This record gives sequence, C-alpha cells and structure tokens, in this order.
Amino acid sequence: MAGEVETVADRQGRTFMLRRAQDRLRHSESAMQAATLNALPAHIAVLDAQGCIVLVNEAWRQFAASNVLQAPGYAVGVNYLAVCERAPGDGADEALKVGAGIRSVLEGNAQAFAIEYACDLPAEQRWFLLTATPLSDAPACGVVVVHANITQRKLGEEARLLEKAMAGVQEQPLRLNDGVLRIASRAGKLTLETQLRQALDNEEFVLHYQPKVNLASGKLTGVEALIRWNDPRTGLVPPARFIPIMEETGLIHEVGRWAMRKAIADHQRWRTAGLAAMRIGVNVSALQMRHPGFLAEISQAIGIDAHAPAGLELEITESLIMRDVKHSIASLQAIRAMGVHIAIDDFGTGFSSLSYLARLPVDTLKIDRSFVIDMTAGMTAGARGMALASGIVTLAHALRLNVVAEGVETEEQSRLLRTLSCDEIQGYLIGKPVPADVFETRFLARKEAPAR
Ligand code: C2E
Ligand code: CA
Ligand code: CA
Repeated sequence: MAGEVETVADRQGRTFMLRRAQDRLRHSESAMQAATLNALPAHIAVLDAQGCIVLVNEAWRQFAASNVLQAPGYAVGVNYLAVCERAPGDGADEALKVGAGIRSVLEGNAQAFAIEYACDLPAEQRWFLLTATPLSDAPACGVVVVHANITQRKLGEEARLLEKAMAGVQEQPLRLNDGVLRIASRAGKLTLETQLRQALDNEEFVLHYQPKVNLASGKLTGVEALIRWNDPRTGLVPPARFIPIMEETGLIHEVGRWAMRKAIADHQRWRTAGLAAMRIGVNVSALQMRHPGFLAEISQAIGIDAHAPAGLELEITESLIMRDVKHSIASLQAIRAMGVHIAIDDFGTGFSSLSYLARLPVDTLKIDRSFVIDMTAGMTAGARGMALASGIVTLAHALRLNVVAEGVETEEQSRLLRTLSCDEIQGYLIGKPVPADVFETRFLARKEAPAR
C-alpha cells in the first residue's frame, strides 16, 4: 500500500489517475462492508480500544437520529465511553453503569456485559437490551456494542417467544468473525484517514517540545519536536495512533513537511525574541527519506534564513538507515552539506554493521529507551543494559559522535549514564514534551540584555 503511493508520486501525470483508482477501490470496498454489517440484527457499533466509535450499522444510525436529543454522542468518531460517563439527567446512573461495563470488557476483566434499560419517546415507551462483547479474542482490541429492542417482551406480548430469543443472545454473545473484523478495522482506518486530512486542513497538528541536557553541566543542549494531533473532540492524540495510517496513505509527506517547517519557524522565532535558541530534532519517517523530493524539501525549508540549518537536526531511525546503506550515506551526506545535523534514533535496535556505522555521516547516536530501562532492571537485564549502554557510548566517542540517552526517568539512570560518560540525556526526569509556549517559559531563559 505504502509502496503503491510512493511509486505513483514519482510519476508526474499519472499521480491523479492512480490515486483516484485507489480511492474508488477503497470506497467500493467500504460500501460492500457496510452492506454486510447492515444485514446484522439490532443496532450495532464497534468501539476501538479507547472506546471511540469506529463503525456503526444503519440500524444504529437511525436509532441515533431518533434519539438525538437524549443522546447526541452516537456518531462515528465520538468517544462512547466519555459520552456514557458524562451523560446528564435521568439516565445518568444507567449510562455510568454502561460505561463501567464496557470498560471492564475492554480491559479484559469481564467476558461480556449486559443491561436492560428504558428509552422513552414522548408517545412511546421502549426498552432495550444492551450487550457489550469483545471484538476479538485478543484483549483490548475493541468491543462490539449491540442494542436490541426488547419492548415487546417488556410489554408482555409474545413474552415467552422473545424471552427465549433474547436468552439466546445473552448466552451467545455476538462475536464478529475475521471477515467482519477486517471490515471494522478497514472502516475505522477510512474514518481516521478522512479525519486526518481534515485535521491537516484545519491546522489541528501541534508540535510539543522535550528538552535534552548535558549530563556534566546540566545545561540545556537541544530539544526534540514531537507531533500530536489536537483533536477538538477528544483532545491530544499521540503519534503512535496516527503516524502508521499517515504512512499508509501518503499523508506523512505533507505532515512531515509541516513539522519540519514549523520547527524551523519556531527556532527563528526564539532567536528573534532573544531566547536561547537551540537545535530542534525533527523525526523523519522512512517514507519521507525514500522520497526523491526530500532533499529539495529540506533545502527549501531552511532557505528562509542563513541561521535556519543550525537550528535543525533530523532524527532518523537506525533500522531505516541500515535498510539501504549506500543510498542512506549519499542522502545523509547531502543533508549534512546543507549544515543540518543528523541523529540516529533508537540506536541499538537496528543491527548496525560496525564497518558501515564508521562511514555514516551523522552527528549523534540516541540510545534507545529500552536499554536505559534495562540498566536498572536488576540482575541479568541490568548487567545487559549497562553493557549495551556502555558499549554504545564507547563506540560513539570512538567515532567522535555525540551520544544521547532517551527516556531517562530516574536519578539512578541519570547517575549510571554519567558514570558511563554519556553526553546528554532526554526523558521525563528532565521534562515531558510540552507545548511550545510552555517550553519557552520553562526552559528558554531570555539571554542577558546587552549592557547599556
Ligand atoms: P521517538 O522519536 O523515539 O520519541 C521518543 C518518545 O518517547 C516520545 O513519544 C516521547 O514522548 C517519549 N518519551 C520521552 N521521554 C520519555 C520518558 O522518560 N519515559 C517514557 N515512557 N517516554 C518518554 P511520543 O511523543 O509518543 O512519540 C512516539 C514516536 O512517534 C516517536 O518516537 C517518533 O518515532 C514518532 N514521531 C513523533 N513525532 C513525529 C513526527 O513529527 N514525524 C514522524 N515521522 N514521527 C514522529
Ligand atoms: Ca526521535
Ligand atoms: Ca527514539
């Protein structure tokens, strides 16, 4: 999928046609998938692991429309748990129970949850049976919520027949088979993709900044920019939830370009405001690196002023560089020739060959957080973590590279890293990633005013 998008982007002129064909295919698939779910009985919604509605069937949609006054939060994209937990008025107690019940299924503490509740229209009294069952056997994957209308049973008509039918539903909770599961996840992705495109148009992405400090002096040496999506409906969404989908859909190119430009602009703003401006590390995705226009993009972005290259460091994962070393060396050389620094991210996880490492034109190695965690993990893991961290520091220094340990959370980890002569640390111990304005006030002291 990712490969498709990239090839298409390479060929001027055909881009549009292929992109359109892909979109059409996606849409026809999703129509088929919707039809399948619509054939299922009752009002059905699929919630993701966080409780967001990722998929509903037609019956659910109609139910939501007829209940819109009492239940405004029934649409795809809405966090159903939040709706239940914040429901006002008469049904609040029941809604709270529903929220807690769904949560217990999502967290794997219950196999299923069921509750009967009344939902009255002005001229009609209705009852529903709500059941929540896991989306699959894997825990925390998501949950299927079904509302079955049991008004007839409650009113005493056809009582025994319905009683039996409903008992069946409770004994055999609705489990979606693999096909439907794929449908659900596909539909969820489509929804997310649409939302992400809108988010880009609405400028809902933000960069948070996390400081790096020198271990010997304790001074601030740099900062990493970490992207978040400020979703107006649910708040901040972490990158792990949307970067993979952006890579699949090609959106990563636009968003990656935005992140780089935003970091450069913030650096320029800090400088002109007389703040202590330091290099900003920007994460680069594999797809961006492989794109033929990437070098030109960097050159354009730093073209805004002569100081811009000194404000930028690109963080590239080790596994990505090692996938195509020759191509990587050429690209990295070109980037460094522009004055931009390069850091190898997640170092230690990508099986670098030593002979290649020595030839890589980079400035910094970032020790992966897993080794930092291992260092203080006790007996064997601790010894292994120390040995690896120490090995990486020695290697980095032998190659005259700067070395930064990631994810440092405790004084103990910091102390051990200092004994290993690690240059810099980054992690919650120093500061969590925070919005630009908070970072400025907390970490960027104004330079001394010039003597009058
Ligand atoms: P990364 O580049 O390895 O970034 C470090 C991650 O560790 C960040 O997670 C950061 O918030 C987290 N972290 C930092 N210090 C600590 C600590 O002391 N303890 C713990 N538990 N975590 C710590 P975050 O912000 O969720 O980012 C996750 C990943 O998303 C990043 O991993 C990076 O690969 C990717 N990412 C972030 N921003 C961008 C971007 O603009 N473009 C691209 N392509 N990827 C990005
Ligand atoms: Ca990084
Ligand atoms: Ca990292």
